[in-house]
Amino acid sequence: AKGTGGNACKVYETTMDDKAYELYMLRGEFRKALEQQQFELHYQPKISLTTGRITGMEALARWRHPEKGNISPAVFIPLAEESGFIQELGNWVIQTACRQVKEWRETEGGEIKVAVNVSVKQFIKQDVAAFVKATLEEMELPPDCLEIEITESVLSSHESVIQQAVNNLQKLGIKVLIDDFGTGYASMTYLKQFRADAIKIDQSFIRHLPNNQDDAAIVSALITLAQALDICIVAEGVETKAQLDFLREKKCCEVQGYYFSKPLPAAQMSKLLNRQFSF
Ligand code: C2E
Ligand code: CA
Ligand code: CA
Ligand code: CA
Repeated sequence: AKGTGGNACKVYETTMDDKAYELYMLRGEFRKALEQQQFELHYQPKISLTTGRITGMEALARWRHPEKGNISPAVFIPLAEESGFIQELGNWVIQTACRQVKEWRETEGGEIKVAVNVSVKQFIKQDVAAFVKATLEEMELPPDCLEIEITESVLSSHESVIQQAVNNLQKLGIKVLIDDFGTGYASMTYLKQFRADAIKIDQSFIRHLPNNQDDAAIVSALITLAQALDICIVAEGVETKAQLDFLREKKCCEVQGYYFSKPLPAAQMSKLLNRQFSF
């Protein structure tokens, strides 16, 4: 190929080198950012629709870049996955969330849990269950203080690796949730295959409730399905009273969204922990 398509080949190689270099630089930047504590976790409550109480918090990563300002996780998580940094970042997220839930359990008491998002790429790179086990042991935390959310749309790759990891996590007593449920290509298959402890309905199905009849039908069917399977179902992206009323009437298990609280730094969230919402 070198002889005939020399030029095309050269361009291709240069692009690859640039790309590799860019990823190399980015990795350096990520590591520096982690060391300089530019990453932070914010927490968003999940509320039980039966008790009005906060059952847990979802940890969401934030990057406060000194020059570029706040970078959204929707941007830096894919970059971290691509550059191979996701393992380091993901482990930092697990450790930081565990440290926080320990503090909350000690100061506020109760059964508060923290849910962390774990990238499929992280499952492929390492034994997540072993890391979680070691972290819990080191911090002397029970398994019911941590939950793992895995996004459905990417479950299709490396199914067997993830299946194994999910089994191991569940054996430790850690709950595993399928996130963004309904956005993948094989939701029902995953539900059966992974035996998740809970599912989170993607906010795209919640946004146009209760007026959009299709979404209303899909969401009520999903709630019925979860009830039949005896698993919890969480609706995310709840922003209005009308959405909340619909979900309550359909007997959804838990809700999450700006209607209750935006994701907030731990210190601000501490004040909310023992609050009871009345609907
Ligand atoms: P996600 O796990 O589906 O998280 C829900 C997203 O919806 C969050 O965006 C949250 O701030 C936002 N949200 C919550 N309530 C509402 C609402 O009522 N209305 C609207 N419009 N949005 C709401 P965020 O924090 O920007 O995170 C985006 C995605 O980045 C997350 O989606 C998750 O997939 C990923 N992510 C965030 N933190 C981490 C992390 O630590 N590790 C990994 N692997 N992924 C993360
Ligand atoms: Ca999530
Ligand atoms: Ca989600
Ligand atoms: Ca999402």
